[in-house]
Formats: sequence, C-alpha cells, structure tokens
Amino acid sequence: MKTRNKLIVLLAAAVLLSSAAARDIDKNISKGLEFINPEDAYAYVKILSSPKYEGRHTGHPGYKAAAEWAAGKFRNWKLNPILDNGYLQPFESPYTVVDQAEMTFFPGDEKEGIKIKVEKDFLPLLSTDSGSHTAGVAFAGWGISAPDLGYDDYAGLDVKGKFVLCFRGTPDRNDKRFQEHDEHRHRMKTAKDMGALGLFYIYPEPIANPNMDWIKDFTPAVISEKTADRIFEEKGIHCLELKKDLLTYKKPLSFPLSSKIAYNVTSRHFPEGMGYNIAGYVEGSDPQLKKHCLVIGGHFDHCGKHLGLLFAGADDNASGSAVVMEIAEAFSKLKTKPKRSVVFVLFGGEEKGLQGSSFFADHIPPVFEKADGMFNFDMVGEGDGTGCSMSPEPELLQKVFEKADESVNVLRNVRFLRGVGVRGSDYAPFYQKGIPSVSFASNGPHIGYHQTGDTIYRINPDIMADIAKLAFIAGYMWADR
Ligand SMILES: [Zn+2]
Repeated sequence: MKTRNKLIVLLAAAVLLSSAAARDIDKNISKGLEFINPEDAYAYVKILSSPKYEGRHTGHPGYKAAAEWAAGKFRNWKLNPILDNGYLQPFESPYTVVDQAEMTFFPGDEKEGIKIKVEKDFLPLLSTDSGSHTAGVAFAGWGISAPDLGYDDYAGLDVKGKFVLCFRGTPDRNDKRFQEHDEHRHRMKTAKDMGALGLFYIYPEPIANPNMDWIKDFTPAVISEKTADRIFEEKGIHCLELKKDLLTYKKPLSFPLSSKIAYNVTSRHFPEGMGYNIAGYVEGSDPQLKKHCLVIGGHFDHCGKHLGLLFAGADDNASGSAVVMEIAEAFSKLKTKPKRSVVFVLFGGEEKGLQGSSFFADHIPPVFEKADGMFNFDMVGEGDGTGCSMSPEPELLQKVFEKADESVNVLRNVRFLRGVGVRGSDYAPFYQKGIPSVSFASNGPHIGYHQTGDTIYRINPDIMADIAKLAFIAGYMWADR
C-alpha cells in the first residue's frame, strides 16, 4: 500500500493553521513519517514472537527479557524515561506455568477411556493449580449463581467433588446486571465455592487464557465443542442445541451426567511474579500544555509457553507493540514536537485482565498533570484495513482521524464506544476515567487467536505501517491542537 503523505498532511494541518505555518508542520510531520516503515515493524514482531521470549507471559523471565529489549529501543530513540531509574514501571503480577496435562473421558459405566488430546481438544486454563482426579461431571449452563437476579445455574445441582461444564456468557447479553458474573474470576470462584474440582469451559476450540486467579486445589480448563458433544452423547444432545435453548428461554438447564473424566495436570505457581509496563515520552513544546499528555499504547504481553507449546502472540499483540514502537520512533525524530507531551507505553498483564493499563491509568507519572487522550492498538497485524472504536466526545477526535486517514486510507470503519464490558482492551481504564480514547484492531481474520497458530507467518507488514502512519499523523494533530 502506497501512501500519499505530503499533500494531504498539508491539508490536515491546514485545518487549524494558516497555510505558511501549515507548510512547516507538513515538513515536520513528513520527516517523522520517514521513520515508519513495514520492514521495521515486521522485524519487531519477529523478534518479540521468537522462542527467545517464551510468549511474553507477564511475570515470567521471558517477559522481563523482552521488556528490557524494548526499553533499549526507547533509550536509543532518546525518549524520556518515565521513572528516575528508567523505562520499566513495575507492578505485582503472580503467574503460573503449566507443565503437563492429560485428560481421559469415560462414557457411562465403561471402563475403557477415550483420550482427549491436549491443544486440539482441551487446554488447561493457564492459572490452574496442579491436581489429579477421576470424577463425575455436571453441566451448569453459564456457571452463574445469581439468586438476587432470579437466576441460578447451580440451583438443585450437586457439583461437590465433580467437574463443572459450562459456557462463557450470560442468559441475557443486554442485561448489564449479569456482566460481573461473566468475568472468569467470578465464575471460577463460584464453581470453587460450590465444591467443584474444576470448571471446563466449552469453546469452539481450546484457547490459551491466563485471565483468572490461581485457586488452590482448583483445575479449570477449556474443552472443544466436539469434546463436549462426546460427553453429552449420553443425553442425545449437541452442546450448541443446549446453548441455543439457554439463550432462547433464559432459564437454567443444568443436569448431572453419568460419565466420568480423569484429569491430571501439573503446574508451577509464582505468587511473587512482577510485571512491567515499558514507558517513555517526548516532551511537548508548549511550556504549559506539555504537562498534558497523549498516551499511545498497546499490550506487550501474551500467554507464554506451557506444555511445550509456544503461544507466540505475533498478531496478539507483538503487532500492536511494533506499531507503538514505530510511532514512538517517528515522534522522537521530529524537529518540532507537538504542544502536548506524548507518552508511549507497552503494557504488561493485559491477558491477565488489563493489569498494566489499569496500573498506569491510576499512576500517571507525576511529570504530567493529566492524560487527555489515549490511542490503543490490539491485534493490528492481520488483514488489509483497520477498524477503530472511539469515544464519541469530543467530536474533534473523529475529525482528526478522518483528516489523517485522507493521506493513509486504511480506516475502514469507525464505531463509537458506549461503555466497557468485561472483554475490553487497554483503552478501558482510560476511557472509564473520561479520557478520550481510540482503540484499533485490523480487519483480520485473526486466525489462531490465543492458539499456537498466532505466528509471524500471518502478519502483513504493510498494515502495521499504515496504522502507525495514521495514528502518528492523528496523534500529532491531537497533541498539537
Ligand atoms: Zn490482545
């Protein structure tokens, strides 16, 4: 994809300025744009998703090593460090590594078991404790117990000493009161409190997921719909029919099964794990406005390496990290900086529940009075165009992106943020504080999401460069307004 930078950047800058001043700004921005290129972005993704960094699992030494590599880049570009002692902002982040897992299914009274294949048919959830049990199974709908809302998947169901099977979701997507019950942490705790040995989520395919607390003597996992169908065979029903009924009637449909599952999993838990945001900034050129900052960020972490499987996270989210780095380099080379400061943050702990971005939003570095904008990039490596979700207010935010896109032509659709649920990305903690936010995801298809297939081979270098150019131009305009 070729971009037609020069002329249209001039137009963009001219929105707010006289044409002579606009020409200077055009020259300035063009200079920055020279440092954004697909080759560099691709090279960063290749490095970050390589086996060396072991899937960038927050807390793990592989994550720390990758963070130090990125901090080295920030240093080379002479970004100002966010803390006195450098670019790494620490926060607590316990983590778990899963070493071994075996699952066998025993239909009815049969002594002969059927092996459930790891990765293809099931994956332990990545905060699992170790455990070894052969136990009964019970289906518990959405795994929600909310008697106060008149809904309880566990009513009349005995799950003590059993494995609970359930779907992710709630009886009513539009009923916000169910939202907290849809959080993995909440659902796991409910199952544990009911006496279950573990919770097995039914997903179309098993995916890696570290987004929950480690619970002693609790062994959660994800199983494929195909595996669930084998388990439901004794009832003569397919799992998708069950899901449809749950959504149609909005009533619990729980039941025990006579089959058994033998599940054996070994993991190591590290409660002392530390996560890091990698952050640096360019100082604004206006003596007053430089105390305000635009935050440009994306998550740096992914799911790690478990069971000998590398979750490389090339698209999710080495791609977003590479885009942030390309924008950072471009800003660092500008002769004239925008009026406001621009902070670049590679967040840790996103996969574990927005840990790094929540920490950063609560601890904006004291050199700034406030953040007044946030751009986030999450999975921007696959496809040939990008979508974005943005705050509806102020209107100028949308105008700036529309104008910037005239020279890049990569923006395919704009959606307005109307609130954040339990599935948001790193913009959420900023958006919730009323900071105008924009979040990008390329149009995909993001095949291999949270699976071992999310590798460098699916990455389109041009899409990353184009998104970086769009956000660089828009970021300049926003920070210089
Ligand atoms: Zn992500």
